[in-house]
Amino acid sequence: AFDVLVVGGGPAGAAAAIYAARKGIRTGIVAERFGGQVMDTMAIENFISVKYTEGPKLVASLEEHVKEYEVDVMNLQRVAKVVPGSEDGTTLAEVQLENGATLKSRTVIVATGARWREMNVPGEKEFRGKGVAYCPHCDGPLFKGKRVAVIGGGNSGVEAAIDLAGVVAHVTLLEFADELRADAVLQKKLYSLPNVTVIKSAQTTEVTGTDKVNGLVYKDRKTDETHRIELEGIFVQIGLLPNTDFLKGSLELSRFGEIIVDAKGQTSVPGVFAAGDCTTVPYKQIIIAMGEGAKASLSAFDHLIRTSTP
Ligand code: FAD
Repeated sequence: AFDVLVVGGGPAGAAAAIYAARKGIRTGIVAERFGGQVMDTMAIENFISVKYTEGPKLVASLEEHVKEYEVDVMNLQRVAKVVPGSEDGTTLAEVQLENGATLKSRTVIVATGARWREMNVPGEKEFRGKGVAYCPHCDGPLFKGKRVAVIGGGNSGVEAAIDLAGVVAHVTLLEFADELRADAVLQKKLYSLPNVTVIKSAQTTEVTGTDKVNGLVYKDRKTDETHRIELEGIFVQIGLLPNTDFLKGSLELSRFGEIIVDAKGQTSVPGVFAAGDCTTVPYKQIIIAMGEGAKASLSAFDHLIRTSTP
């Protein structure tokens, strides 16, 4: 059995495993795909102390760092269920894999990340990283002085549009419904900006481009007419989906499906911790996920020294 079993091999999971292994305790990682979202990332310019790197390169460093320690890495394994152990530590937690195997551990750290909801229109996948972006904090500066669209008029979309308006030449915000859903204070700020256009009842139907994005096509849902906008970038802000479906019923989740954690990364169940994009911790970023992973791991260690060995 493990002392700490980490579910997820992204930045949060890797950090958690390294911090645990450095305590000299039995540590394992189960991951569907080691590296997580970072594997899909092109340029990374906000991983502090590294001016520029690329996703696969950062993942290789993460893997190298994890392998420096005695960590049992079980890659390409998907977890189907987590059954918590007993509160006093006398019964171990069980992590059931989709292949039928069961792993046992004194503590579990869930770091299964999240994924951006996609528009599912032609061109979106093709131009991902070539003009189609999901994270304004990450990719906003790449569009300095250019024209971009933000898809989605909820809080994240409107926040993104306000943020981007300070960096890019012009922002067009497209909302599917006939009203923005963002908080009034955000809408007020948005409408005060000179370089933002808001288009409501707009359904994006296509992303166009050659080697990179050069525009988008949308349908006016009131008139059924299609329109084209010329631009260089598209930020899709229609939701972030935490990878937590397999935890329903075992851990307390927010209405967005995020694992509810306290300041120490403790979930609603003793002995089960969580970190990174799958949790309620705001701002989904690599550096934040790593810090949260380290924190959850130290909390797991703290839990171990206070509970008896089964
Ligand atoms: P993830 O990276 O999502 O990792 C989750 C891990 O859990 C993966 O190993 C996955 O396979 C595994 N997993 C999921 N479900 C299961 C299961 N049931 N069983 C087993 N394993 C499972 N952030 C920045 O700071 N800077 C950037 O420039 C940047 N650019 C980005 C660009 C793109 C295209 C994307 C998608 C994201 C970007 N981000 C960026 C965000 C950043 O990648 C995430 O915040 C970060 O990866 C979150 O780390 P995590 O460990 O919490 O989750």
